[in-house]
Amino acid sequence: MSNTELTAAVHPFEKRGLGMAPFKFVGSEVVVFRNPVTGEEKAGSTCDYCGTSIANVYHIKSKDGKLSKVGSDCIMSTYIGNDQAALVTAVKKEQAKARKAKTESKVNELDTLWDSEEMQAKLNSMPHPKGFANLTLRDYYAFVLNHSGTAGKLRVLKALKAL
Ligand SMILES: [Zn+2]
Repeated sequence: MSNTELTAAVHPFEKRGLGMAPFKFVGSEVVVFRNPVTGEEKAGSTCDYCGTSIANVYHIKSKDGKLSKVGSDCIMSTYIGNDQAALVTAVKKEQAKARKAKTESKVNELDTLWDSEEMQAKLNSMPHPKGFANLTLRDYYAFVLNHSGTAGKLRVLKALKAL
C-alpha cells in the first residue's frame, strides 16, 4: 500500500481531529440564535469539521467516545457508517423542522409589523387598490389576511415591507 492510499483510508472526520473512526450518528437538533431586540434569527452553532455556521446540527460520536457536531452538508458528504438510512431520515426531518421554524418566525414578523401603529397609520393613509372610496389599503390587507393561508400571509409581509 502506498502512502497516498494510507492517507485516503483515514476517515475525513478523524483527520480533522474529531476522534477515531468509525463514527456513529447519534442525533440531530435545530440550533438558532434569536436576537432579543430585532427578533432576527441566525444559525446558532458551528460545524466542527468545516467551521461554517450551522442551524441544523448533527451529532456524531467517535469510536473513542468523542462527541462532535457537524452541519447537514458535511454529514451527508463525509459521514461513513452503517446507520446511513437513519441518518438520511434524521437529516430530512431536521430540514423540514427548520423550514417550519422559518415560516413561523416570518408569520410572527408579520404580526408584529401589522400591529405597529406606524404601519397601521401608513396603511390607513393609502387608498384601497380596488378604488373603494370609503376603504383604505389597511382594509384591503385586513381582508387578504383574514382569507389567506400561510403563503398568502407571507406575500402580505413582503408587500408591507416594500411599502
Ligand atoms: Zn461542515
